[in-house]
Amino acid sequence: EETVQRIAAGEVVERPASVVKELVENSIDADASRVSIAVDRGGKDGIRVRDDGVGMTADELDLAVRDHHTSKIGDIGDLEAGVGTLGFRGEALAAIGAVARTTVRSKPRGGGMGHELTVEGGDIGEPEPAGCPAGTVVEVADLFYNVPARRKFLKTDATEFDHVNTVATQYALANPGVAVSLEHDDREVFATEGTGNLRSTVLSVYGREVAESMVDVEWSAAGDDVPVQSVRGLVSHPETTRAGREYLSTFVNDRYVTASALREAVLEAYGGQLAPDRYPFAVLFVELDPATVDVNVHPRKLEVRFDDEQGVRESVTEAVRDALLAEGL
Ligand code: ADP
Ligand code: MG
Repeated sequence: EETVQRIAAGEVVERPASVVKELVENSIDADASRVSIAVDRGGKDGIRVRDDGVGMTADELDLAVRDHHTSKIGDIGDLEAGVGTLGFRGEALAAIGAVARTTVRSKPRGGGMGHELTVEGGDIGEPEPAGCPAGTVVEVADLFYNVPARRKFLKTDATEFDHVNTVATQYALANPGVAVSLEHDDREVFATEGTGNLRSTVLSVYGREVAESMVDVEWSAAGDDVPVQSVRGLVSHPETTRAGREYLSTFVNDRYVTASALREAVLEAYGGQLAPDRYPFAVLFVELDPATVDVNVHPRKLEVRFDDEQGVRESVTEAVRDALLAEGL
């Protein structure tokens, strides 16, 4: 039973960044306006995600860490379309609890007492009263302490931190209305303000030079003969580039996804203007009919495909090209 639990956990929890992803999704689902992420040694020693969301009662806390418990199953149609809440399998907290020493502390927003509960290698403790602000904090220490084979496969602190940073950045960009902060070994890496403004969010995560070089993308389909309804966001000046593709952030119906069609569409819009092996910054929100997106290419990955790949590419390229042309670029 314990082995089965650990194998299942391995599918959700691959590395510190996957823990961060699940915890941040839960915070956003919990209607948080502030999400603070702190990791130690790339997340290998400790991960803490704190939010000011709806919080949990003692009973909810106890249920939350059990496998296949979710408070989010509503409309199955919603789930299949990949819209609505971010998490819905009810597996994440249980999976994390199985492979680390986890403490969840929470207090309901609407009043009531705070409680904390500890899960150590799958052993669930009792909720105990605890003083804490409204909202939830999850602390995950010693990831994979009981699964040495997995612990061994973690990379250096710096590499694990890069993955954590990428995840934190994507959620910050996807949610400009939420103040998201990230700390590594007690040093602040970034902090967004949660004003709802995309450009100031970009400024907080990528810095002033990048934010100032960004041009607005604002494109809507003229008719309903194309799959994409709208494309909006920011893309950088062709000379403001980096060596990594990870600065191309794409969101489909407000969900962070990776899709080669979207990346290639953005690059194509720049034509021959990019230096070899350099990539622009892009933060693009693509809206389209959820029924035309396949989110189950890899159930646990972020890769999506489109029924009409070519149509999506054309619209996104046009949207970005229009934006660059409008700035004379
Ligand atoms: P899922 O997100 O798929 O429901 P999880 O294991 O991630 O599954 O979480 C289980 C449940 O715990 C959630 O459905 C939610 O009710 C509760 N929960 C988890 N994290 C939070 C949080 N940060 N704030 C409030 N409730 C939470
Ligand atoms: Mg979840």
